[in-house]
Amino acid sequence: RFEHVKMAPPDPILGVSEAFRADTDEMKLNLGVGAYRTEELQPYVLQVVKKAENLMLERGDNKEYLPIEGLAAFNKVTAELLFGADNPVIKEGRVATVQGLSGTGSLRLAGALIERYFSGAKVLISSPTWGNHKNIFNDSNVPWGEYRYYDPKTVGLDFDGMISDLKVAADGSFILLHGCAHNPTGIDPTPEQWEKIADVIQEKNHIPFFDVAYQGFASGSLDEDASSVRMFVARGMEVLVAQSYSKNLGLYSERIGAMNVVCSSPDAATRVKSQLKRIARPMYSNPPIHGARIVANVVGDPVLFNEWKEEMELMAGRIKTVRQKLFDSLSTKDKSGKDWSFILKQIGMFSFTGLNKAQSDNMTDKWHVYMTKDGRISLAGLNLAKCEYLADAIIDSFHN
Ligand code: PMP
Repeated sequence: RFEHVKMAPPDPILGVSEAFRADTDEMKLNLGVGAYRTEELQPYVLQVVKKAENLMLERGDNKEYLPIEGLAAFNKVTAELLFGADNPVIKEGRVATVQGLSGTGSLRLAGALIERYFSGAKVLISSPTWGNHKNIFNDSNVPWGEYRYYDPKTVGLDFDGMISDLKVAADGSFILLHGCAHNPTGIDPTPEQWEKIADVIQEKNHIPFFDVAYQGFASGSLDEDASSVRMFVARGMEVLVAQSYSKNLGLYSERIGAMNVVCSSPDAATRVKSQLKRIARPMYSNPPIHGARIVANVVGDPVLFNEWKEEMELMAGRIKTVRQKLFDSLSTKDKSGKDWSFILKQIGMFSFTGLNKAQSDNMTDKWHVYMTKDGRISLAGLNLAKCEYLADAIIDSFHN
């Protein structure tokens, strides 16, 4: 009966890790998935996470079901972390917050909400974007289109292209924006550019839809990384925001995040929340508790919260150091005169190298460097000791 089922293609990001595991070469390097590694290239569990887990164990917290919308203490702190605790939208009760299965699951809830209540509306995503965005909206039966974002000539933002694409889009489209540390390019709009983007979105009656997967990881500051979202909210706009704690708290496999919908009245927020719950119930019934408790304990406790910020600065700092070292190695080793400074301008976990598919294949086939085929490398998976090797691999792949 299952004979007609065809083989699914490997996932373009998670498939890279599968191929990496199968490689037996000593020099192999996994720069595919965006997961933080220590200088020894080992996975890292944050100290504050261990402390929060110890607290949970000491208290003997139980494993009862959560309500459909998740842990109340988590939903409170996650919205406060995002919008700022004093934000009027919180005080006025205008935010519908529902705990989701990390960033992906939260985006998927929003996809279902859009499909039900905004029939025919398109979600516009940046070109390029994180590969899973397309899958999520496809599976939600939500039509999507793209707006220009990356300019290969400057290895920077195609700001004019982006603005004109937002202008020609049908009024009332959802505009998916990366709150900070754009994946895969590492290129964010400047504050002035964000204002202009907000102007156009407002003029066109579009609905801003933020994906915030790296709060704290771009600048090292949680508030600064939320400033794009807060600026839109301060303009009085209705905004959707998906959050993830995979990267900034290293809770990848706990699947903890949230969907927030800023509405124009508390009544609308209550109704939207009721619909998000209705969507979640037949999908997964209720979310897992462990990660939610960790976040609630860390963000809700001033001491742990400060320790978290220090650890995040450490992680963001290590990535900045390897970014600089990679740039230095490329600049010294490459005799072609190519300008590598774009690497330093990019922020967050990733660097978009500009390597095309064939060149990315060369990185893997010849140099055992595993990366996505769009030319993205995760600097979080790199250490100082491997920068020179990586620079050799990149130069060889570019010039051959
Ligand atoms: N959005 C973007 C842009 C991401 O890079 C990621 C993580 N790779 C996510 C969402 C969500 O990841 P998760 O589901 O693990 O939170």
